[in-house]
Amino acid sequence: MKEVVLAKYGEMALKGLNKGTFEDVLFKQIKRRLRPLGAMTFSRAQSTVYIEPQDESIRIDDIIDRLQKVFGIATLCRAVTCEKDFDDIRTRAVDYLRETLEDVETFKVEAKRADKTFPMKSPEICRELGGTLCEAFPHLRVDVHEPDVTVMVDIRDTNAYVYAGKLRGAGGLPLGTGGKALLLLSGGIDSPVAGYMMAKRGVLVNAIHFVSPPYTSDRALLKVEELAQKMTAYCGDIKFYCVPFTEIQEQLRRRCPEEYFTILMRRVMMLIAQQIAAQDEDQALITGESIGQVASQTMQAMVCTDAVCRMPVFRPCVALDKTEIIEIARRIDTFDISIQPYEDCCTVFTPRHPKIRPQLELIEAAQEKAELGEMIARAVEGTTCKTFHVEL
Ligand code: ATP
Ligand code: MG
Repeated sequence: MKEVVLAKYGEMALKGLNKGTFEDVLFKQIKRRLRPLGAMTFSRAQSTVYIEPQDESIRIDDIIDRLQKVFGIATLCRAVTCEKDFDDIRTRAVDYLRETLEDVETFKVEAKRADKTFPMKSPEICRELGGTLCEAFPHLRVDVHEPDVTVMVDIRDTNAYVYAGKLRGAGGLPLGTGGKALLLLSGGIDSPVAGYMMAKRGVLVNAIHFVSPPYTSDRALLKVEELAQKMTAYCGDIKFYCVPFTEIQEQLRRRCPEEYFTILMRRVMMLIAQQIAAQDEDQALITGESIGQVASQTMQAMVCTDAVCRMPVFRPCVALDKTEIIEIARRIDTFDISIQPYEDCCTVFTPRHPKIRPQLELIEAAQEKAELGEMIARAVEGTTCKTFHVEL
């Protein structure tokens, strides 16, 4: 019995003029993600990509597993391939759907006929196959309104396919159709989720991380690198920039009022991030901030941070509760890494009483006094870059 996978697009099917480009990008990504599994044929029609393994050893579950991490796919179905002959469709359907249909009480059949030369019309296919299935599984009843299972028959150019049930895809839009942005990636729970959410909308994500040795350890950096590697499963290849931040943090601690420390540090991170972003041709920055989560993440604090930014700053977690962020982190498998207890440069000099409503003029004056210009240039100069690749 030959099985295939049907990957159906989501909202991109509606994107009018762009539809062709979106489909091309998705088609390429599907092929790229599946290539390491072995030989397959790919075809596409009517907002669906048909994937047919050519090699006995390829497991359909492995195909589905990989495709569930590809943005742009709304649903996935596994189907059996039939000859374009109703007797073959009938026999295979009984065989293939046995396990599914033995467990339910009601069903209906829907047919789609792309090949209009097929001798039976859709209503006739539904009626005939419905009859066959009722005979083969006498406990079954037809319910056209709220069936437990919908059996689909799809008559295409070279073959017909029969399937029942569907799995949820990753949703969103294909990677690379939404621009490119630089994620400020810490070792925490929120920033990997923020990166994932932007990638889901088709944005290519690169990452920048600030380290302050010896206050932060090699192990802490390794943890963030592990996060970046994990993120590639959804985000594709990620360029990872690492910025030496010690000198700046020490200067801030020496020169600025303690209560402004966090906000100034964040502003300097943004200044550096946007220089790197410009070199990398990223169009925006992404952070994992969420309103009110901690004292440094008030709206007023974000206003003060954004005052140094010339490019848009996206904060997709801004309106999520911590529990909602954690739910996503678990789903994308970053949670267990994020909760490993290693220090972040932010936690090294955390002020006891950060300013909850910082005033921009005072912050700007404090930053001026800290004379950070050359240090910022040195930090950018000393930034290193490596790439994490999707594990194929
Ligand atoms: P997260 O869980 O993402 O670490 P958080 O709740 O710990 O977030 P903060 O430590 O206040 O929040 O950091 C807010 C945001 O600033 C992070 O989401 C991240 O985008 C950025 N950030 C913080 N520390 C670093 C760092 N060392 N390198 C890069 N970005 C950072
Ligand atoms: Mg953090």
